[in-house]
Amino acid sequence: MKLYEYEAKQIFEKFGLSVPKEIGIIENISDLENLTLSFPIMIKAMVLIGGRGKAGGIKKADNISEASDICSKMFDLIIHGYAIKKLLLEEAVSVAHEIYLSIATDPATFDLVIVVSASGGVDIEEVAINQPEEIWKKTLRDNPKTLSEEISKEAADFLVGRNSELSSVKESLSTTIMALFSAFQQSEAKICEINPLIVTNDNQLIAADAKFVLDDNSLYRQAPLLKSIGIDTRSKRHDVSEQTKYEAQAYIIGFPFLDLLDNPESFQKEQDKLYVGLVPGGAGYGIFSIDEIVNVGNRYFDGKVIPINFMDSGGGPSLSKVADMFHILMDHPATDLIITSRFGGISSCDIFIQGLIMALRDRYISKRRMIPVFGRMVGTDLAAARTFLDKAKRESPEPLKDLHIVVGNQKIMADIIKDGIEYGFRTKKQKETGGN
Ligand code: GDP
Ligand code: MN
Repeated sequence: MKLYEYEAKQIFEKFGLSVPKEIGIIENISDLENLTLSFPIMIKAMVLIGGRGKAGGIKKADNISEASDICSKMFDLIIHGYAIKKLLLEEAVSVAHEIYLSIATDPATFDLVIVVSASGGVDIEEVAINQPEEIWKKTLRDNPKTLSEEISKEAADFLVGRNSELSSVKESLSTTIMALFSAFQQSEAKICEINPLIVTNDNQLIAADAKFVLDDNSLYRQAPLLKSIGIDTRSKRHDVSEQTKYEAQAYIIGFPFLDLLDNPESFQKEQDKLYVGLVPGGAGYGIFSIDEIVNVGNRYFDGKVIPINFMDSGGGPSLSKVADMFHILMDHPATDLIITSRFGGISSCDIFIQGLIMALRDRYISKRRMIPVFGRMVGTDLAAARTFLDKAKRESPEPLKDLHIVVGNQKIMADIIKDGIEYGFRTKKQKETGGN
């Protein structure tokens, strides 16, 4: 779970970190009248995505007319596809230096990684590429609950070494790093980042920005902490800005769906790549098929194949739910090809194939976008499913001309995936050269 900056800052405060004085959070421009403003103030768009500053989501205002002008413009802003529902208003602090601090779990090794840099305030990825010597990084393998003074001093020494003006705040840098580490560990976070940690003209350290990502698996243990900042972990967090359009649609219909692409609605496809949507027969195969698409793509197609989603039908989906699972991917602007699979279990192959064919016929009639489907079905109600498929293909060959379902076990999924991808690239090429 990603926290909004104002929520993350409340947690930071509990662990003894200083943050700018919050003036208020507004949801529309008229809320501004109810606040007591002492200028200058910072106005910050609350979106769960980085790089707001560059996108116009962070502005300073020196008086009320500037503030209301900035706020009304910011409510109309879309940042990387996300609408802005809330603005955080804070008292601005004076900036002498900007520091970068973060603690994160390495997603591959689960080691803890501490990163600090005296070149804060800017994109840390850019610093890492262009000035790697400006970054200090420490990997902790034993998951300590608190950070030793030795390590926090080492980090503070590095910062002072890069900028001698920081020597007057060396002690507080070291305690701030320890406090951030405690916040990270005690809230079972995956990422805690302060960028920038502002060093003020009077040598205070203030976390001007806060990124906080909690581990979803431990939310139940963190319920008291989250409750104390106004988040109820029992009710699923309904924040449309966290979900993509397709995730929200699937949530309403009633099946899990995750977009693997960033900003799928405004997504720019790379011309030489094939984007594959997945309708698997269960969560396990859903996860596996993401890997398998990448694997087959790397082996035979020069790594140019991209899986675009995770999906799970749940046990025994209804006919209309099966149809909706295909509709969502055929409406998705990225999809070039759909790979599907039914493998035994409690779900009926007959319901599955009927739902799929219903979706294809509906789309054909209403002239909606059709995407080739490759897959296999094995298991419950297979005979009825085969009969239905054969009959449907005879009766409506046109809507089903790009439906390629292997019935039974005569082919392994990896080969079906490979066939599908070859076909996908071939039809893509034909379209580009004007054929059909
Ligand atoms: P981000 O672009 O989403 O990372 O947004 P930040 O909250 O980090 O703000 C971007 C930049 O705005 C910071 O790096 C600072 O340079 C500046 N900034 C943020 N808060 C303050 C503040 O209170 N005072 C001043 N002077 N600058 C600020
Ligand atoms: Mn920032």
